[in-house]
Amino acid sequence: MLTDYHLHLRPDSIDADADSYFTPDNIDRYLDGAAAVGVTELGCAEHMYRFTESLEVWSHPSWEEWALDDIDQYCDVVGPSPIRLGLEADFVPGAEDRLEQLLSGRPFEFVVGSVHFIGDRSLDTEEYTIWDDRSDPDEVWRRYFETIAGAVRSGLFDILAHPDLVKVWGRANRLPSRDPRYYYEPAIEAIAESDIAVEVSTAGIRKDVAEIYPAPAFMEMCVEAGASFALSSDAHEPDQIGYEYPRALEFLARHGVDELAVFESRRRSSAPIGDAIKCQ
Ligand SMILES: [Zn+2]
Ligand SMILES: [Zn+2]
Repeated sequence: MLTDYHLHLRPDSIDADADSYFTPDNIDRYLDGAAAVGVTELGCAEHMYRFTESLEVWSHPSWEEWALDDIDQYCDVVGPSPIRLGLEADFVPGAEDRLEQLLSGRPFEFVVGSVHFIGDRSLDTEEYTIWDDRSDPDEVWRRYFETIAGAVRSGLFDILAHPDLVKVWGRANRLPSRDPRYYYEPAIEAIAESDIAVEVSTAGIRKDVAEIYPAPAFMEMCVEAGASFALSSDAHEPDQIGYEYPRALEFLARHGVDELAVFESRRRSSAPIGDAIKCQ
């Protein structure tokens, strides 16, 4: 079976409002998009920071601008649908208890953990970017993977999203001078000691870096560490479901991975990939 456990029901636009996109009709469009490419297991992971409740966890100015919707409205629409209800939640060091509170008591089947910020500066958006004249890529990479290790060890997440997002821009002045494996090490150690599934995401192919998350070297280290893997496209519209999956399937097979993580009520099990479909 094929999974896509990291879908967004709307584009990354502040104008994409909940009432227009969190609807049974829009969910049907996603189900049709998945059926067209043979993806049978879907999970929706809307960004936590688009809900007003996220401001109880962290109050970054970007979140204050984007936190417009009610998380329970989202849960009420997606929960009863055939798409598994999840959340893409940012790991904010020091705010673990507050995030735990936001997650508990809500019917999530899985939670995807992301690191998009180092301190209050953004890794993957131009606004609030960490990548200015003062930044040292080696230092950014070191802090990024240490934060990833913290996210993994927090036990708050079922899936580690886009594990090497720090490479997103793919430009020489934003890449470290040392072998990246040096920076991966703390994250891999945390993965080895935890139960989290590592996301293989084709979203990186759509970004400047133009490659799958994670890089092959990170993937090799995860396999050696005995990790399990979730497969996702990070789609923001129905026709991105299963985006570039033939490449992802080849990547998984090359690393000897023949099963994928699936989730129910925040419990993970494995399903064989089996005969990979030829999507797109
Ligand atoms: Zn993300
Ligand atoms: Zn996402």
